[in-house]
Amino acid sequence: MGLDVKTSQIRAGLIACTGNAGCKFSASDTKRHAAAIADWCEPRVPIDTPLNIHLTGCHHSCAQHYISDIGLIGAKVPVGEDDDTVEGYHLFAGGGFGPNADVGQEVYHDLKAEDAPKTVEKLLKAYLAHRASPDETFLTFARRHDGETLRKLADAEASS
Ligand code: SF4
Repeated sequence: MGLDVKTSQIRAGLIACTGNAGCKFSASDTKRHAAAIADWCEPRVPIDTPLNIHLTGCHHSCAQHYISDIGLIGAKVPVGEDDDTVEGYHLFAGGGFGPNADVGQEVYHDLKAEDAPKTVEKLLKAYLAHRASPDETFLTFARRHDGETLRKLADAEASS
């Protein structure tokens, strides 16, 4: 029937709220952007540990971006000198639940949606390059650093 029976760590933990395709509160097209992140990152970053990436369109946070390994909350990102905006996100990392309960820290503010796939790619590449061991999860890695350091590590990585 053409349905996949396998999935990657990136797609297995990928969640998006309704987004602006069906919810008036959303600042971004979360489901489309989530698919774009997975389509871009899957063939480029061999993630071998559990990972949650959540995209939510507004502060109601139906997709719970704040307790995700990588969480994005929709934002209208200013562009140019007028009041123009484009769809985008603020990106957080290191959130968790249950025994790992904590709120993620902001890594990128006002990230254009079109830049989200490559930004997540670079953040994941930074994780693979700097994790303490092959068993260290993204969550543990993210919590060893503050948001600014995570951003610098990601920005030092090249996008494919
Ligand atoms: S998080 Fe906001 S935009 Fe997304 S479905 Fe919930 S209310 Fe709508």
